[in-house]
Amino acid sequence: MTKRILVYRSINEDQLARLERDFHVDYLPEVASAEDPAFLDALANAHGLVGASLPITPALLDRAPHLEAIASISVGYDNYPVDELTRRGILLCNTPDVLTETTADTGFLLIMCAARRAIELAGMVQRGEWRESIGKELFGTDVHGKTLGMVGFGRIGAAIARRGALGFGMRVLYSNASPKPELEAELGARHRELDELLTEADIVCVTVPLNADTHHLIGAREFALMKPSAIFVNVARGKVVDETALIEALRAGKPHAAGLDVFEREPLPETSPLPHMPNVVALPHIGSATHETRTAMADRAVANILAALNGERPPSPVNELELKSS
Ligand code: NAP
Repeated sequence: MTKRILVYRSINEDQLARLERDFHVDYLPEVASAEDPAFLDALANAHGLVGASLPITPALLDRAPHLEAIASISVGYDNYPVDELTRRGILLCNTPDVLTETTADTGFLLIMCAARRAIELAGMVQRGEWRESIGKELFGTDVHGKTLGMVGFGRIGAAIARRGALGFGMRVLYSNASPKPELEAELGARHRELDELLTEADIVCVTVPLNADTHHLIGAREFALMKPSAIFVNVARGKVVDETALIEALRAGKPHAAGLDVFEREPLPETSPLPHMPNVVALPHIGSATHETRTAMADRAVANILAALNGERPPSPVNELELKSS
């Protein structure tokens, strides 16, 4: 019997053809919710899933009795119940490395835009309101030479820090689950406990994964520790930050400004004040959203699912060790 793969995110023709060589593919790139009847029908017969952004719950897994492997088109895997997948013998794969540099570019874009008020001032020009040299009430703050505090110092955190240290002469502090002596040697980065980092950094940038330990890692207490001039950037996941506390903190002027690619609810609800706050740069979760990188991510996901369903070792397994020891 030919195994079936359900693809619920857009991939290109070549990627689709690679999957169709050995498998039957249900291609549903427009699926917006797990309630979609076509998605649920295909799920019932799927041996493999390829997609992103849709939370895959244990209740959905109950409707996928043949499922052997999932290839997420993302590095973050907070949309998947990893322990539950392992318990059911389902292999989860992700797409590390191929998106690191692009997401780091997005992180630095947010740092620059928030510090130099680029979106706010570009809006002024666009509305035809630039009639004289801007006064100091519209000046930004320097990025070069400042202290960059990385909360999370993995692949993306290190790539942002590299830009800061090597391109902008920044001093780098980091807090992370484990020490990073190689990055300390490479970038002169210094480890700090989170509270110390928040007090010392001019720019605080979050790149930890979302998990039980990092949910609301940054809240009212943490914002209160920051400098009044601090710039806060989140390119990780919205739920790492208590967004209500962030809104209150920004209204109170501490942090001074924020650059946000991710939010507690996405797409951002119309009622959110964040996009209307002049000291906020809000992007629609575009960390990895370039043609080159999204193609590379889908390539990796295709390689992952092909290997997994053919009984080979995929390039980027998430729960391989847990599956082996279970
Ligand atoms: P990574 O290499 O695994 O880095 C994550 C780092 O966070 C690791 O160094 C890890 O420590 C550290 N960490 C984990 N839990 C922690 C905790 N409780 N406290 C402190 N540090 C902790 O992952 P990555 O490739 O850099 O990606 C990071 C995250 O970025 C992803 O999980 C994803 O959610 C997000 N992301 C967002 C976008 C976007 O579009 N905005 C795009 C890509 C990724 P160890 O080194 O000790 O393991």
